[in-house]
Amino acid sequence: MPNLSGWGRFPRLDCRVIAPAEPEAARAAIVAEPSLIARGNGRAYGDAALNPVATMDMRACAGVESFDADTGWIVARAGTMLSDLIDSFLPRGWFPPVSPGTRFVTLGGMIAADVHGKNHHVAGSFGAHLAWIELALANGEVRRCSPDADAELFAATCGGMGLTGVILRAAFRMIAVETSMIRRETLRAPDLAAAMDLFEASAGWTYSVAWIDCLSGGRALGRSVLTRGEHARAADMPSRVAGPPARTRRMPFDLPGFTLNRWSVRAFNALYFRAGRPGTALVDLAPFFYPLDAILEWNRMYGRSGLFQYQCVLPLAASRAGMTALLRRIAASGAGSFLSVLKRFGDVAGPAPGLLSFPMEGYTLALDFRATAANLALAGELDAIVADHGGRLYLAKDARMAPAMLRFYPGLERFRAMRAAVDPGGRFASALSRRLGL
Ligand SMILES: Cc1cc2nc3c(=O)[nH]c(=O)nc-3n(C[C@H](O)[C@H](O)[C@H](O)COP(=O)(O)OP(=O)(O)OC[C@H]3O[C@@H](n4cnc5c(N)ncnc54)[C@H](O)[C@@H]3O)c2cc1C
Repeated sequence: MPNLSGWGRFPRLDCRVIAPAEPEAARAAIVAEPSLIARGNGRAYGDAALNPVATMDMRACAGVESFDADTGWIVARAGTMLSDLIDSFLPRGWFPPVSPGTRFVTLGGMIAADVHGKNHHVAGSFGAHLAWIELALANGEVRRCSPDADAELFAATCGGMGLTGVILRAAFRMIAVETSMIRRETLRAPDLAAAMDLFEASAGWTYSVAWIDCLSGGRALGRSVLTRGEHARAADMPSRVAGPPARTRRMPFDLPGFTLNRWSVRAFNALYFRAGRPGTALVDLAPFFYPLDAILEWNRMYGRSGLFQYQCVLPLAASRAGMTALLRRIAASGAGSFLSVLKRFGDVAGPAPGLLSFPMEGYTLALDFRATAANLALAGELDAIVADHGGRLYLAKDARMAPAMLRFYPGLERFRAMRAAVDPGGRFASALSRRLGL
């Protein structure tokens, strides 16, 4: 039996894998399994796509079924990789409306986690762009649901982490772009307050994100490099853009855990801050959206014990105080990661569509920790700060939170009721759902 994990390689479980070749086979397999969970490309960090009895690898159920070049409406199978969509549609002038920090995810995974991108403050999460999804339920019935038809099932499935059924296909609208480049502006913020002021001043930009030095303390607590960007227009382009296309590299083997220690991380963070030179540039879209994809399998850098990601969001009114408290605790610990990310979520597109959708208006912080007992204990302390400030944690990144943290999802009881209605026997289950009693 394959030994599977999420992107963090923590935890690892022996799971029987079934891999239907097309949506009808996926539907048929559901009723034959006493317990199962769908899996996309395994980019959720923790245990969301693991079920020892049956983990259904959906990647073969892929492909675009229709595309309207006048409007951008697309119908695609759930196993379709975002990277494949971008490879085929960007040269024709189309780009997904929301894109997470890696393009190696499937459409099904994007819906099940209701992913957000660097444009959340103007575009909302991915679910807000769906016209409908087709879902295979526990009894084998296939239902098409949308914000208007079977709306509660739609809301339970966007962000529902695969627990309402297996998504087979979806319809959403791509956005038109004139080039494959981004007009990027880089700004430095000497501390957290300045970084947040820059986010507020960047509300008119489509994309914004900040890398934050999680190890600097004192007056430099929260110092950041903020980048904001717009799709470059044809008129922005010089007659010829020089330079070879970006290359990807692979992490050749597991780095022993000790190479990633507080000194190497501190040195990296100091260098990164200095390297983030303020200014504007026309850059390739891939390194702007997916900087970590340039190093394939970078998760192996954390050694055999693996890593976990900590991602929380705090309500806007509590964000300054709460983020300060979190960063103080992280800086004091000396733990924390190479790339810590701060982002402003908006409410422009209305509330997130899903009952368990992660985003709310406010600030979100995401950072990686090596999966050690000390860091897991630290995460428990961070949970208390998040809870005190009315925030919540992202299920797609989680491998360790306690069930009590679920109380910060206001749609939890409605989600449970819908799940009980469509899957009374609890056929859909994952290590995450069992750990949290979802
Ligand atoms: C480097 C990196 C950067 C990231 N950046 C972001 C970011 O900026 N924003 C963000 O929101 N997320 C981000 N993520 C998280 C990632 O987008 C989500 O975890 C996404 O769900 C992964 O998709 P996947 O296809 O790999 O799904 P998996 O990891 O395989 O599964 C994730 C969940 O989706 C469910 N699922 C998958 N396919 C189906 C299906 N067909 N039907 C029903 N359920 C299904 C699984 O059961 C599981 O619960 C990032 C992850 C990485 C590794």
